[in-house]
Amino acid sequence: MTYLMNTYNRFPITLVRGEGVWVFDTNEKAYLDFTAGVAVNVLGHAHPKLVTALKDQLEKLIHCSNLFWNKPQIELAELLSKHTLKGKVFFANSGAEANEAAIKIARKYGRMRNEKKVKILAAHNSFHGRTMGALTATGQPKYQEKFKPLVGGFDYFEFNNVEDLRSKMSDEVCAVFLEPIQGESGIIPATKEFLEEARKLCDEYDALLVFDEVQCGMGRTGKLFAYQRYGVEPDVLTVAKGLGGGVPIGAVVVNDRADVLEPGDHGSTFGGNPLACRAGVVVMEEITREEFLREVEEKGEHLMRRLKELKETYPQKIKDVRGMGLMVGVQFVEGVNNREMANKCLEEGLLLVPAGNNTLRFLPPLVVSWGEVDLAVNLFEKAIRN
Ligand SMILES: *Cc1c(COP(=O)(O)O)cnc(C)c1O
Repeated sequence: MTYLMNTYNRFPITLVRGEGVWVFDTNEKAYLDFTAGVAVNVLGHAHPKLVTALKDQLEKLIHCSNLFWNKPQIELAELLSKHTLKGKVFFANSGAEANEAAIKIARKYGRMRNEKKVKILAAHNSFHGRTMGALTATGQPKYQEKFKPLVGGFDYFEFNNVEDLRSKMSDEVCAVFLEPIQGESGIIPATKEFLEEARKLCDEYDALLVFDEVQCGMGRTGKLFAYQRYGVEPDVLTVAKGLGGGVPIGAVVVNDRADVLEPGDHGSTFGGNPLACRAGVVVMEEITREEFLREVEEKGEHLMRRLKELKETYPQKIKDVRGMGLMVGVQFVEGVNNREMANKCLEEGLLLVPAGNNTLRFLPPLVVSWGEVDLAVNLFEKAIRN
């Protein structure tokens, strides 16, 4: 296209509308959308409750800045806090911004103890966003090289390697950043042992444990947040993607220990605007219902079971199937290209998200039906068969 910067490898279709788990292109061709806008449209497209609430909010108040209070922001903060760390919430507009706020919280927390306590540890192959701080936390040279110098004071450890993390810990560390399930790098779940040890090490060295649940949060794993499946609680939780059901919003939730910011320390013009927060309230109300999350877990197990069967049938194509809940990655063997496979799936009418490690991600809206899960697996099989 003439006027858009060449920043994305886009699939060759233009989408015009969506309904539930389906999207339609300019030729009215229907696609089963297992991208959900990269784990964003958790309630699917054009969900009646979300549409009604947003129409109502549009007619009341879209934006008023943080010079004033607004009701949806207060309501969403309460919902997020009560369902997670019971502490305070800051609203941003994206995942990267939520992580930037978490980085500042970590730095201030450290400096309140001593001025050398500013080091932040993050995992190799992690993904935390594209702004300079979040990019620095993203332990992947391919995203970083062209933009150096990066932000100072970061170091990296090997994901799921307790010994390596322990060797990097010191009194100068103010925070450890982690995705409980690495998303961009190919759906790689942390081990329970690793998260437990990370928690212990952070306590031992008085550092904050920060979980980036921008992708694996908001019900995706069958619990509201992935850490609740592991039973390991962070001090700081970053949230975005699914939180607004498609409306841009990000949030940081902290426990009492990490509640260090004061007026003047941080801010955002758009953060916490009533429109985005109203969307967040609808999403939270829908997905925190116990039967909703139980179904996500069950449908996820079904998806995983069926994909593992395909792995048995096509060992010459599929190397591994990994994930939790409705966050599942299929890694292909060497010589079978994930992006080519995604294009074949698109031709069959199934949309999937490429990721690192030669993987394709299945990230459907959480309202996907059992029939649609089966249909997706059938279309996937058709696409990869020959
Ligand atoms: C997508 C993602 C981000 C970045 O979110 P943006 O809204 O694109 O800035 C950060 N962390 C994780 C784990 C993500 O998946």
